[in-house]
Amino acid sequence: MTSEFDLIRQHFSRPAPSAILGVGDDAALLQPTQDHCLAVSSDTLLAGVHFFPNADPLDLGWKALAVNLSDLAAMGALPRWVTLALTLPNVDAAWLNAFATGFYDCAKRYGVDLVGGDTTRGGLSITVTVIGEVPLDTSQHPPVTQALRRDGARLGDMVWVSGELGAAALALADLQACIALDKSSKNLFTQRLHRPTPRVELGLALRGIAHSAIDISDGLLADLGHILVASGVGAVLNYAQLPIHSEVRNIANLNLVQRCVLAGGDDYELCFTAPLAAQQVLEKLAQDLDLKLTAIGYIEAGKGVRVLDGEGNTMLVSQHGYDHFEKQ
Ligand code: ADP
Ligand code: MG
Repeated sequence: MTSEFDLIRQHFSRPAPSAILGVGDDAALLQPTQDHCLAVSSDTLLAGVHFFPNADPLDLGWKALAVNLSDLAAMGALPRWVTLALTLPNVDAAWLNAFATGFYDCAKRYGVDLVGGDTTRGGLSITVTVIGEVPLDTSQHPPVTQALRRDGARLGDMVWVSGELGAAALALADLQACIALDKSSKNLFTQRLHRPTPRVELGLALRGIAHSAIDISDGLLADLGHILVASGVGAVLNYAQLPIHSEVRNIANLNLVQRCVLAGGDDYELCFTAPLAAQQVLEKLAQDLDLKLTAIGYIEAGKGVRVLDGEGNTMLVSQHGYDHFEKQ
């Protein structure tokens, strides 16, 4: 019988050089960088709710960390440390090995150290807590952080989005048998769904440029909506300007594509607002990061999002993320 301690030692005890003390004691010991504040965020992934119980553990390990890093990216925080609370129905060494490999792959790619966690028996559930850092100017009172927040959007800001939208939601629609994607699209979109790329470098680069930011986990309209509520403003988006992958554009079911692009979750791109004057800086940044950045609309007085079609007419769309797809 593998004990809880063997399990932790075997799978989750790689060195954590950035910690004073990592896995193994009652708590990890961490030293924050001087003149920084901590950005702390947790997300839980539940089997049957956030992933299929038979999901590939290698992908799951990656995604469990990646979705948390996406929250730090949206704050403009530099990821430093992570803890992992695992609830497992049984000890399956092959599953754990693959899960840990995916998790550590992501940790290595983004420079975070796993420094602790918890392991219990029960229905499969994965809770990750990430800790990042943001510079803090303590010479001012109260101290001022460079963090990107939801409440900073201002009139005259343009609304931007990174990468492309809708692919992850289409992969989910395919998995749920709502549509049948062709093989090449399916591979591409499924990768987006299972192996999201947290936009950490972008978040860091947006410090001092963006007025507000959020990551798109629940769909563009829902997540931009959070910025608008927090900032007390409204926004206009031009549907024709939204960055949509050419293979998504080619899908015949326009209604489904529209829903996936506007309201589909799991893309983990950043949506942010920045003053008009930042446009050139952002275009240069897109080149430097080799990441598409697209201006998709602007902030206006009022509340909520208005989406305009190619002719400038207001489209009728739900403001909310979709948690399931109707059969077509
Ligand atoms: P305690 O009983 O004091 O809570 P645990 O047995 O839960 O201690 O954990 C022992 C050590 O292993 C702690 O340092 C804890 O942070 C770490 N740990 C437990 N589970 C995990 C995990 N899934 N991943 C990483 N570290 C873990
Ligand atoms: Mg414990």
